[in-house]
Amino acid sequence: MDAKEFCEFGKATLEYIADYTENIRDRNVLPSVKPGYLNELLPREAPLKGESWQEVLKDVERVIMPGVTHWNSPHFHAYFPSGNSYPAIIGEIVSAGIGCIGFSWMSSPACTELEVITMNWLGKMLNLPEEFLNCSEGPGGGVIQGSASEATLVCLLAAKERATRKLMEEHPDWNDATIKSKLVAYTSDQSNSSVEKAGILGSMTMRLLPSDEKCRLRGSTLLEAMRKDEEAGLVPCYVVATLGTTGTCAYDCLDELGPLCNENNVWLHVDAAYAGTALACPELRHLMPGIKFAESFSFNPHKWMLVNFDCSALWVKNSRYLIEAANVERIYLAHAHEDTAPDYRHWQIPLGRRFRSLKLWFVMRIYGVEGIRNYIRRSVNLARYFEKLVRCDNRFEIVADTTLGLVCFRIKGDNSMSKELLERLTARKQIYVIPTTYMGQTVVRFVVCSQNCEERDVEFAWNEITTQTAEILKSQIETSEVLEEQLIETCTTITDKHSDSLTDKLLDLEIMRNAKNPQTIS
Ligand SMILES: *Cc1c(COP(=O)(O)O)cnc(C)c1O
Repeated sequence: MDAKEFCEFGKATLEYIADYTENIRDRNVLPSVKPGYLNELLPREAPLKGESWQEVLKDVERVIMPGVTHWNSPHFHAYFPSGNSYPAIIGEIVSAGIGCIGFSWMSSPACTELEVITMNWLGKMLNLPEEFLNCSEGPGGGVIQGSASEATLVCLLAAKERATRKLMEEHPDWNDATIKSKLVAYTSDQSNSSVEKAGILGSMTMRLLPSDEKCRLRGSTLLEAMRKDEEAGLVPCYVVATLGTTGTCAYDCLDELGPLCNENNVWLHVDAAYAGTALACPELRHLMPGIKFAESFSFNPHKWMLVNFDCSALWVKNSRYLIEAANVERIYLAHAHEDTAPDYRHWQIPLGRRFRSLKLWFVMRIYGVEGIRNYIRRSVNLARYFEKLVRCDNRFEIVADTTLGLVCFRIKGDNSMSKELLERLTARKQIYVIPTTYMGQTVVRFVVCSQNCEERDVEFAWNEITTQTAEILKSQIETSEVLEEQLIETCTTITDKHSDSLTDKLLDLEIMRNAKNPQTIS
């Protein structure tokens, strides 16, 4: 392919993406394909002779799009948002165009230096404590990871190395393996699955501690767990606190956990993958006090900050710990500026790294801090609007506080109704929501995700939800009326009061009545 063709291909592709984005509302948010669908549509072997770009681009619409879940659709309300914006897409293209592998400063100075600068911009925008920034006097700094999962694992490994070195000094008779087997990590039962996975991958016991009635990890719970482990001869090493849990967007009590971690020499990592972006807005910062106690802090611009995957920001107060855990020197990696600029390969799991700061830079410059704040505020306001609609309808109840872009609600009464609602919505593919559980209850999570989501999209979702709910309640009542009739029939024909069939029917009636009672049918 020559440059002329590249430009034609590129232009057509950009137009395709713009058209896809602008008309995404017209597509069902969920696809209608079965596993293996693509196998039916594509040849078994790669083409021997090259094809035209027109053929390839045409097939994106023909075979790929039918199997796409449209994460950028304003009807997508599942999980958390997957960041996206035109400036980020262009930043991604430039990154691909340069195609450098920035493992050290020398391997592409701009790649390292732009990352240092954008991470400082970002840290200041979130009002992070000075110590985390690269521009402070100390050894702190930020780095872009591929995902929050990697950030959690990298910090676990650093915490493990830090604790091992300290214990070796204190107990010269203990060996490396003995020490590492004693180290314990803690998180709450509400933390993301990637936290538990970090424990597995990093070979450290990860205790999932019970959260309180607001789904928060409390200091007293952590203290008790640490004391118990210490009594058993184990050593608390690493705590992962979540700001904005995946289930209900709860905030662990950093103000309580932080001092405990600091006093006990335990590494406190804060996972704010989704909620972290909200720190850009001064009026939302009160939700997340106590970040100053953390040793490391991470959040995902690729979630709620308009940057496409992958771009996860991680800051540490002391980068030396990361380097000590991962530094492997080789002659071909050495260069003359090792002391002045970070060699980011020591701050991450892989050696190679992409020029990810470009898309972050593009987004921050083209939106500006104000543009990013406005986008967050708009999402929060839309979530509040949805919450208001739910609260005005007494068939539903709100569970957990709505603080950012997530609303947790359910149909009053038995869990089976909210479950059926979720099944129906998924089968109809008009909107996409997923469940969580909250104190034994099945809950529907509604998240404002797309940057193109508007009031009319929230109303569209609410209409879909209420229409389906009305049908569920209607069929419940019909079933219970049939049961009532059957029961009367049974009572008149059966005289044996110990009859199993009668007891079953009475039980069914009871369940149906319970299900029916809390709602009024409009
Ligand atoms: C989404 C999420 C993660 C995982 O993020 P990745 O970048 O996909 O690894 C971790 N923690 C929380 C709280 C999340 O919401």
